[in-house]
Amino acid sequence: QAKTRSGEKLQFFTEELNNQVQHRMNMESDLREAIDHGELELYYQPQLNLASHTITGMEALLRWHHPKHGMVPPDQFIHLAEETGLILPIGEWVLNQACNQLKQFQEMGFSNLVVAVNVSVRQLEGQNMTLFIKQILNKTGIKPACLEIEITESVMMEDPERMIVSLRELKQLGIRLALDDFGTGHSSLSYLQRFPFDKLKIDRAFIRNIIESPDDAAIAMTIGAMAKSLKLEVIAEGVETEEQMEFLKKCGCNEIQGYLISRPVPANQFARLLSKYRPPLHLAKPSKKP
Ligand code: C2E
Ligand code: MG
Ligand code: MG
Ligand code: MG
Repeated sequence: QAKTRSGEKLQFFTEELNNQVQHRMNMESDLREAIDHGELELYYQPQLNLASHTITGMEALLRWHHPKHGMVPPDQFIHLAEETGLILPIGEWVLNQACNQLKQFQEMGFSNLVVAVNVSVRQLEGQNMTLFIKQILNKTGIKPACLEIEITESVMMEDPERMIVSLRELKQLGIRLALDDFGTGHSSLSYLQRFPFDKLKIDRAFIRNIIESPDDAAIAMTIGAMAKSLKLEVIAEGVETEEQMEFLKKCGCNEIQGYLISRPVPANQFARLLSKYRPPLHLAKPSKKP
């Protein structure tokens, strides 16, 4: 009898596993076609400069409109894309789309707006990433300083020496580099100094309880002070309340990003947000004369 029971268990187990494998294979072949079927879309989330209270940047965040499963968040398919290598064509699509969108916003008068694009290490390892970005910059004519590449901190320390080489090559294009999810990846201070980053993004996990938790408050303060001495800009992600914003100002943060300003939204809605926080330059009143 015991034999039967374990037999049943085993059968259940393999069935469950089969379903998972099947689901993964389905998602993989669906993802393979997602670009051609026009199922990918970029949403944009504003980055608010705390000194000027204007939107100075936007982060491009990928969305997959799956024909059967509806909207699939990136946390549920970026990993699959990385494992299968699909991140390479998807990543190129993202960069292209983001730069073209930026160009449109800049032509509307927001001429110094910056777009931040998330890039996976798999893309950095590919040889032609730098060339690809160079070509996009040429094609769109956007200033290199208006493109920012975000790389997650946790992957930097896997092979830091190699990352330095890739990042320096990118940096030569004149683009900006941001270290995403900062605080979760245990970067050593010496490496922070050697990586050519322009900006640190404090991870949402530290912002969430910044008001209630003295520990998290201290971490934010410390990151602010450290960034200042390393001459890095700081942005806080996941800012949801006014109190958090006020506290982050005191920490020396330059910018904030989060639901307090807006959730990530499609491009047409982002245009409205831009006008709300800053009129296009050609409509703005001339600044006071000397
Ligand atoms: P991330 O780059 O750290 O992006 C920030 C995430 O926090 C986004 O999730 C955003 O929607 C969310 N968020 C922003 N403000 C708030 C807030 O105030 N409260 C809360 N609770 N959440 C907030 P999303 O869009 O689901 O993206 C998740 C991750 O997927 C990103 O984390 C990024 O690592 C990755 N990702 C997104 N788009 C791309 C892409 O085009 N390429 C690559 N390689 N990765 C991407
Ligand atoms: Mg990011
Ligand atoms: Mg982040
Ligand atoms: Mg993240």
